[in-house]
Amino acid sequence: MSKTANEEICAFHYHNKSTVKCSLCGLPICDSEEASPADGKKICSLCFNSPKASKFRKYIQIGTIVITLPSALLIFLFVPSENSYQLFAFLLLIPLMIGLLIGGNRLLTKIAYKGLEKHQMILPLIRYFEASGNAQFYKIFLKNLKKLSDEELEKIRLPLLDYLIPALLFNYSKLDDNWQEDLLKYLKIDEVTLAKIFVDDYKTLLINIAVHDAKADLSKFIYYLGDIIENDEIIIKYIKEIASDDIKNLKDEQLKQDYDMLLEELFLYEEQFYSVCDRLNLQKEKEALAALLKRYEPPPVPKSSMDAIKQQRDQVLQMQRQGLVSSKEDFELADKEEAESEKMTEES
Ligand SMILES: [Zn+2]
Ligand SMILES: [Zn+2]
Repeated sequence: MSKTANEEICAFHYHNKSTVKCSLCGLPICDSEEASPADGKKICSLCFNSPKASKFRKYIQIGTIVITLPSALLIFLFVPSENSYQLFAFLLLIPLMIGLLIGGNRLLTKIAYKGLEKHQMILPLIRYFEASGNAQFYKIFLKNLKKLSDEELEKIRLPLLDYLIPALLFNYSKLDDNWQEDLLKYLKIDEVTLAKIFVDDYKTLLINIAVHDAKADLSKFIYYLGDIIENDEIIIKYIKEIASDDIKNLKDEQLKQDYDMLLEELFLYEEQFYSVCDRLNLQKEKEALAALLKRYEPPPVPKSSMDAIKQQRDQVLQMQRQGLVSSKEDFELADKEEAESEKMTEES
């Protein structure tokens, strides 16, 4: 498999070579893509459609208000208030509003994805997931993946994995515990084959992210990969990289700043790390890991449930400040789009 496939293939037309990147979102695209009306630079279909979609979003919101507010006023003025007639009339407004919003959003999705087939949405969705870390995009991606025919799947399999694996590794902590289940089913691939691709084709990326850009639970994932393909090479490489001089020789302050998450992983899976070192005869590395762990200060254990809640809140606030948590709006938007794309396919 080519590791650079995602740089060479258009994200929308998998048989076309990518000649340029979308000047707005950076997706690799081909010559057949649209040019921006603003500056004539090439942009992808989604970016081309998105100004129209956002304009339309405004119309939906205004339209909903223009219809429901006067209706509410009419009910208030003309429907008699005895026998709860008024209340019933107001209650009837709720389905009307929901209907308007759903219908509007359906049209909105059609505008945003105009001219794109299901398989053409797959790679951009993975990119959005990778870039935003918003797990909703991963869910929408899975739903689209599920609907691909064997032929469509075969057509995009290589670029798909080239996009997907880094996206998964960068956002590993955002995935559910059983994230593989659906993915394996829809990719029509077995667990061992997928694990082999991770280990054989993406070893360097995997270790790099796990050590130098650590994500929660990637240690667990690396042990799992080693187990499932019955090969310790990836685990040895991982431990040697952690125990390397580059990390050992860091000053305390920098270690804490850049490798806090890695140290937390060591702390959480301490016993597993040590037993693996013993089993694989990595005594020098085991000592290095122990020395690193001595330099780690685990977060204080909460004394009461009140403290625990406060600590959790502080963590979320801190993550929000660092932009690690997507805003509520993003989630709601992705939720809506998910529901819409679901409905559209049911119709077609
Ligand atoms: Zn774009
Ligand atoms: Zn293209």
